[in-house]
Amino acid sequence: MSKETVDIAVAEKVDSSKIRRGNTNVNPSLKGGAFLVGTTSPESIFVSEEWTEEQRMIAQTVIDFCVKEIQDAFFKRGRELEITKPEDKLEMLDLVKKAGELGLCGVSIPEAYGGLGLDFNTGTYFSEAIAAGFSFATTIGAQTSIGSLPIVFYGNEAQKQKYLPGIASGELIASYALTEPTAGSDANAGKTKATLTEDGKLYLLNGQKIWITNGGFASVFVVFAKIGDDEDLSTFIVEKDFEGLTIGAEEKKMGIKGSSTVQLFFDNCKVPVENLLGERQGGFRMALNILNTGRIKLGAGGVGGAKFTVDRCVKFAKERKQFDQVIADFGVIKHKIGDITTKAFAIESAVYRTGYNVDLKSEQFLAEGLSEGDAKLNGVREFAVECSILKTKGSELACYATDEGIQIHGGMGYATETGMEMAYRDARITKIYEGTNEVNRMLSVGELTKRGLQTKEIDLIGAGKKVPGFIFSQFMPFKSKAGYAAEERFVKGLKNLFLLISGAVGKKLGKKMIEEQEIILNLSDILAEVYICESVLLKIQKLEKKTGIDAEKLGVQKEMMRLYLYDAHGIASKAARDAVNSFSEGLQRKILLSLIRRMLNQVEINPKEIRRKVAEMVYKNGGYCF
Ligand SMILES: Cc1cc2nc3c(=O)[nH]c(=O)nc-3n(C[C@H](O)[C@H](O)[C@H](O)COP(=O)(O)OP(=O)(O)OC[C@H]3O[C@@H](n4cnc5c(N)ncnc54)[C@H](O)[C@@H]3O)c2cc1C
Repeated sequence: MSKETVDIAVAEKVDSSKIRRGNTNVNPSLKGGAFLVGTTSPESIFVSEEWTEEQRMIAQTVIDFCVKEIQDAFFKRGRELEITKPEDKLEMLDLVKKAGELGLCGVSIPEAYGGLGLDFNTGTYFSEAIAAGFSFATTIGAQTSIGSLPIVFYGNEAQKQKYLPGIASGELIASYALTEPTAGSDANAGKTKATLTEDGKLYLLNGQKIWITNGGFASVFVVFAKIGDDEDLSTFIVEKDFEGLTIGAEEKKMGIKGSSTVQLFFDNCKVPVENLLGERQGGFRMALNILNTGRIKLGAGGVGGAKFTVDRCVKFAKERKQFDQVIADFGVIKHKIGDITTKAFAIESAVYRTGYNVDLKSEQFLAEGLSEGDAKLNGVREFAVECSILKTKGSELACYATDEGIQIHGGMGYATETGMEMAYRDARITKIYEGTNEVNRMLSVGELTKRGLQTKEIDLIGAGKKVPGFIFSQFMPFKSKAGYAAEERFVKGLKNLFLLISGAVGKKLGKKMIEEQEIILNLSDILAEVYICESVLLKIQKLEKKTGIDAEKLGVQKEMMRLYLYDAHGIASKAARDAVNSFSEGLQRKILLSLIRRMLNQVEINPKEIRRKVAEMVYKNGGYCF
């Protein structure tokens, strides 16, 4: 299914002769980061309404599995799974096996090795659905993503044959060991060493890894270490029973208590040379590429977590009465439900826009002669800017939604029995792993700047030159009320705002800009709003032209899009003012502050009415329905 779908889409939409890496004159949909400087047509993006029956069935299988095996089991057990309890560890292992039997451990593994071989976007959809599994989402996430993808993408035939079928069936559990006591965000700073034995048959690994997900019961570890005096990391496949590997005790954590997290100790751990994965010193690049994949999937997971929270809150709010009425009818509860739903709807549009583009880009690389693994990896790498944005926005959405979810449940949200506080604790880790949100914010701006100023893949300079023209146009009376003119103008304003502020900061600080992290964070907040706002607007424009769309629902979706843009105005204006007040002074500051006010038109809406309307539709449908 997946390959054919992508093939058709590629045949219809991609003229690969026009699309070359480094060519700035391409469909911005297929150039990572180019959303900032180009125009994307609504037709070229994927919207979740386009999932096929088969894709929906996969997602539903995952949700059914999570409801039956995890949520119902939680209520029956009356407490969450805790991996530190031996009986719970067995239960988690059993869950992985059951998931394996359903094919859920092999979503990203090619069919030739026993997996489902899903395309990237369907795999991303899977990550949204599995969020209903609480800490199991982390266990299965490590299994299907960071733990197995290095072998899928970089393994040789023998390595793939040896490990992938077992991982796909759930008989082997995979994990990814990069972090060390001295190497967290600075992942290449690890001290774990690999030394080749004199007979050339083994590498001896010495060092320590920390925070290793699935480590307590994994059979296969993808371990990063430096060979000899190498500057960069290499990667090794280490089996649980290799002599010299000691697995530490389970960490005691705030959340995801059902997920195993341990330290690993390597004391002359004997790794056969054939277990070197990929090229020597190729490990750091591999680690980053795999993390890009994990980042967008975390973004999807955040959307899934938020939708799931909405479902639970609606059920509770419709039953709980205070002051002789169900709390669902209170304006503040509608405000919260309407707000979480709107954010989930908008971020979702950006997640699957990106996931689909990754598939198209990978197909394009394949057509250009890259191997399947390289084509897929480069496809994700292309959208590194977007992946960082989505990781940050998705994780913050999950944390916000579960926090508000507790609030909607009142005291019952604080009690363990509803599972709301568990969801809140479980969501919190997503802002930390797969690169902290601070690091991802800086990466999004750093990577974009690199592509604009160093590799010149994106025409940032050309776009920057057009900013004065845009500002001038903002002083002209704006009368057009046709279609989405106001919304399009707002998104254009956001793009120009980013270009204006980043250009002014760059001019003033030059290379020192990199030291002014607070300003980069401001810029990243504007950039993220550009991408999400544009994605949700394009989605609405596409839906409007589609047949068979529920008109009532589309009406509410349009309003959600406008509400998201309205809120983004506040976020972007504040971020822009913070940046300007942080680097400029005197006349320059005055001028820039007044331009910020000019650049962004406010989409006119009644936010209270929209949130109410959204909540009422969600109530009517018994949960998230967009
Ligand atoms: C439950 C859990 C599971 C995990 N699973 C895995 C796993 O399976 N495999 C694995 O390899 N790792 C795993 N990790 C590790 C995780 O990826 C790291 O914790 C994360 O990358 C952050 O590293 P750190 O904890 O050392 O924090 P640090 O890097 O020390 O960061 C501390 C603070 O400083 C900030 N900071 C760091 N560098 C910069 C910078 N350059 N500029 C500005 N601010 C900065 C961070 O944003 C953060 O706020 C896991 C962690 C946890 C908690």
